[in-house]
Amino acid sequence: MPKIKVKTPIVEIDGDEMTRIMWQMVKDQLLLPHLDMNLEYYDLQLKKRDETDDKITLDAAEAIKKYGVGVKCATITPNKDRVKEYNLKQEWKSPNGTIRAALDGTVFRAPILVENILPAVRSWKKPIHIGRHAYGDVYKNCEYRVPEAGKAELLFTNAAGKELWRGTIQDFNGSGVIQGIHNTDKSIASFAKACFTYAYDQKLHLWFGAKDTISKTYDAQFRKIFDEEYQNNWKTKFDEAGLEYFFTLIDDAVARIMKTEGGMLWACKNYDGDVMSDMLGSAYGSLAMMTSVLVSPQGYYEFEASHGTVQKHYYKYLKGEKTSTNPMALIFAWTGCLKKRGELDKTPEVGEFAQKLEDAALETVENGIMTGDLMRVATPDPKNKQVYTEEFIAEVANKLVEKL
Ligand code: NAP
Ligand code: MG
Repeated sequence: MPKIKVKTPIVEIDGDEMTRIMWQMVKDQLLLPHLDMNLEYYDLQLKKRDETDDKITLDAAEAIKKYGVGVKCATITPNKDRVKEYNLKQEWKSPNGTIRAALDGTVFRAPILVENILPAVRSWKKPIHIGRHAYGDVYKNCEYRVPEAGKAELLFTNAAGKELWRGTIQDFNGSGVIQGIHNTDKSIASFAKACFTYAYDQKLHLWFGAKDTISKTYDAQFRKIFDEEYQNNWKTKFDEAGLEYFFTLIDDAVARIMKTEGGMLWACKNYDGDVMSDMLGSAYGSLAMMTSVLVSPQGYYEFEASHGTVQKHYYKYLKGEKTSTNPMALIFAWTGCLKKRGELDKTPEVGEFAQKLEDAALETVENGIMTGDLMRVATPDPKNKQVYTEEFIAEVANKLVEKL
């Protein structure tokens, strides 16, 4: 069989530890035997970031801007222990944060569903995708421990130094706490645009929840910007595609989502997204069954797994022990990337290949061949068998060949 040609180069961003080991296996056994692709390779393993003073991370982000689509392995975000372990020049920032800032992107996550792992919520039949606004609010706050009675005020002075607005937060009778948070129209608009783009791409209804009944200026601004983006740029397209944009109060969204079948994109403000994405991840079964994609308002895409580098498994691997680490989210990062590349290049055969690879991976798990993390959550069945990572990938590779 001739290899399938991928027209435009793909930006490949390699990473660390156990995911780096699995990354190579996935490429060698599932992709390179079947695809003829040019890979723009960026090695973001921690040592390389240190050697290049983290320039390689910015280069990788620039490459995504140039080619449009990239795929990323998990990387270590160093802390004090890692600085010692890898003898680093400094505690480099999170590469994901750096790339997200460079692309002004929004992260979307979605679970990978299989028949034999049931979501904790019985009515959920389809994945609930989540989009988290990853800028501002309580994550970039200014807060103060009020030690005694007094007045707390909110004050805005414009760039020319003129006081434009002042309001009382609280007249304190005794000690307490205060906090100032912010967001910008630009960031909210980018978030809204990324959400509509993603929902339209994936043919999903878009839900957005905020608390504009209580927060009549702050949350109301989010609602207003989403409405404007919808009316100006998406209403016609959404109508034609039979898609709906649905705004409701955040607490109503939470209550309703429990009763749906799933299958929507749920856009969340920063804090809501932090909390709700962890709830969804755990309700759907396993961290290793959650994919993630960074979408920029200009339409650049970076696909990845949402889990980390699986450090504990890597230390076992270094001791020569075999591990049963789950490569599903990494496989789906590659297939997501290939589907998008095929769509942009208008080469449907690339997307078809990616779909066959996804099907092969899903069927392997559904046939009971799975890694340890899934054995713990799968519906018990005598045919279930826990396998090592290599065995799992070999099984997927065989299934894939049958389908090609
Ligand atoms: P982690 O890699 O997400 O793993 C945490 C635990 O979850 C593992 O010990 C394992 O549980 C389970 N797990 C995660 N992925 C799995 C998989 N594919 N197969 C089987 N089990 C899996 O988090 P971490 O070990 O706390 O963090 C390691 C490094 O990852 C950190 O340096 C952090 O900075 C980095 N990180 C990177 C990203 C990213 O680049 N996207 C995201 C998060 C964290 P058991 O040990 O119980 O088997
Ligand atoms: Mg969280």
